[in-house]
Amino acid sequence: MNELIHLLTLDEKLMLLTGKDIWHTATIDRLHLSSIRMADGPHGLRKLTDVTQGVGESIPSVAFPTLSALATTWNLDLAYQMAEALADECKQQNVDVLLGPGTNIKRTPLCGRNFEYFSEDPYLSGKLASSYIQGLEDHSVASCLKHFAANNQEFGRMSMSSDIDLRTLREIYFKPFEMAIKDSHPSTIMCAYNKLNGTYCSQNKWLLQDILRDTLNFEGIVISDWWAVHDRTAALLASLDLQMPYTLESFSNLKSAYENGEITMEDIDTALTRILTFIETCLENRKKSFPSIGLEFKHQLAEEIALESMVLLKNENNILPISSQKIHKLSLIGEYADKPFIQGGGSAKVNPIFCDSTFTALKDLAPDDLKISLANVYATWLPVHDVENIVHAVEVARDADMAIVFVGNGDIVETESLDREHIKLKRAAEILIREVAKVNPQTVVVLQVGSAIDMSNWIDKVQAVVLQGYAGGASGLALAKLLLGHTNPSGKLTETYPLCLEDCPAYEKDFMDGISLNYKEGIMVGYRYYDTYYKEVAYPFGFGLSYTSFSYSNIKLIQDDYTHEIKLSCSLTNTGLVYGKEIAQLYVHRAYSKVLRPDKELKGFQKVGLAPGEKAEIIFLVPLSELAYFDISTNSWQEEPGSIDFLIGASSRDIRLIISHTL
Ligand code: BGC
Repeated sequence: MNELIHLLTLDEKLMLLTGKDIWHTATIDRLHLSSIRMADGPHGLRKLTDVTQGVGESIPSVAFPTLSALATTWNLDLAYQMAEALADECKQQNVDVLLGPGTNIKRTPLCGRNFEYFSEDPYLSGKLASSYIQGLEDHSVASCLKHFAANNQEFGRMSMSSDIDLRTLREIYFKPFEMAIKDSHPSTIMCAYNKLNGTYCSQNKWLLQDILRDTLNFEGIVISDWWAVHDRTAALLASLDLQMPYTLESFSNLKSAYENGEITMEDIDTALTRILTFIETCLENRKKSFPSIGLEFKHQLAEEIALESMVLLKNENNILPISSQKIHKLSLIGEYADKPFIQGGGSAKVNPIFCDSTFTALKDLAPDDLKISLANVYATWLPVHDVENIVHAVEVARDADMAIVFVGNGDIVETESLDREHIKLKRAAEILIREVAKVNPQTVVVLQVGSAIDMSNWIDKVQAVVLQGYAGGASGLALAKLLLGHTNPSGKLTETYPLCLEDCPAYEKDFMDGISLNYKEGIMVGYRYYDTYYKEVAYPFGFGLSYTSFSYSNIKLIQDDYTHEIKLSCSLTNTGLVYGKEIAQLYVHRAYSKVLRPDKELKGFQKVGLAPGEKAEIIFLVPLSELAYFDISTNSWQEEPGSIDFLIGASSRDIRLIISHTL
């Protein structure tokens, strides 16, 4: 490596610090140094055919569930397998770096990119990100963990400063990155567009050098978000290695900074060494091959993830699964029964090879005596005055034993660069639900959304609600299986559904100035806030119903020595009539602490499949370091002595077992 550095001219060195075009690093033909190729993910390979464009046609690829949907599986193996399949797509398309996963915290449901993120909880986000990264890196494709840091909304993302205190940064916003760096060593990290406490992340030396490299021990390369660098020299001095994509200004900016003595050859070579080492690793990786994964297998995997991701939110009188003894005529209302929204919009949008229809899948799978009709109305874009469409939907629904209304947001409403203005469905969709429910007492709503919505205008009128989410190209088939009871729902929410937007801790009553945003709620993000301050919510964090039931029993601490970790176990029994998977969650609570602590914090989870009557013992391991708080006076994590309650439950609001231990 040293040798190569000495052979490069100053201009060549500076060229290597920025891209060649939108997706490649620079090539130095004279020295036979090839470039490496990057492409977006993270729920499918988005390889654009034109390398000079950031938007446009991308090659068709498998659309897996978006990260918001992957997250509601709470299944780390599936996260790993999805990334493994994506690595295979990358290998086939000669892509060296997949630009994902994104692990920003879902601070507000308004954020247009929430469908690209895992959760409002840092522990869950960190665990999922780690498995995903491992799945890519184990198959010699570089991951790019993004967007570091605190890019939690799209409004003002290019200019606004996220103003956050240090404890909140360490416990909430840096935490998933810290976990992923420690557990799975991502090759690259992408910095965010926004400023953090007044300085652009791309030029923030405290963030990139002091925290990322020196404190979190990140050893890979830092890539800028696309066009996030405002001053290339400041970015280099902040330890940003690779600016993407290419701009002439950056090259000139660095050159004059070198000539004026603002940067030294050592500054240049430090970043360059990291970039060249990375390029060398990518070129070595190209030589490694793995058994290729066929399209059929990928479709099955996409279906399995979709199946585990869907969350049954409401099921009055157990009207789901559809019983062929009771339901003979089923009507599906809304275009999305046939052409589902499978993802949000922006740089993550993939061009799907397949996109299953629930309507077709239901017709294929349902017993012959179940008649299925489709009222192909456009629920989201339907103008409120389009009475004809509503009348048609109502007629179809009236005539059926059960009506399933398909509504959602899709890639225009939930997209990069834009935040939502509110969290209700379009008014037309709400009217459609209510009118259908008036004529059909067995109305089910299917939601195709990537973040929390406010259902208050219609939830009491319907019997069941399924969160289909943005579950990728196999989502139609998966939903059909779930509605018919071929599979039992096992997804759980990874973000709280509040009663209304105004209840959210991050809600801003006043107009945002686009200059700075004070994260005034501090560590009280999501359920940490709702549970600490006893706020009523629509659906709590960790919630999801099943067609069976589970009982929890026999919690115990199972070790003698508590110097490094706490080990505890409990029994879980399937007390219902069908096979099902339960996600048991472990939270910790402290009655007394020197500092403000949330009522509870997630510190473990296990997803377990059980046959009717079957019982399993589950074990949780909590490292003591996970129980610490970040102390700003000593700038370190502090493990406090005292009594800790360990709570095991089915959601943050459904705690079934408690055991205490004094440290
Ligand atoms: C997004 C990144 C993405 C990049 C390249 C940016 O606009 O914020 O997440 O990887 O574009 O498309």
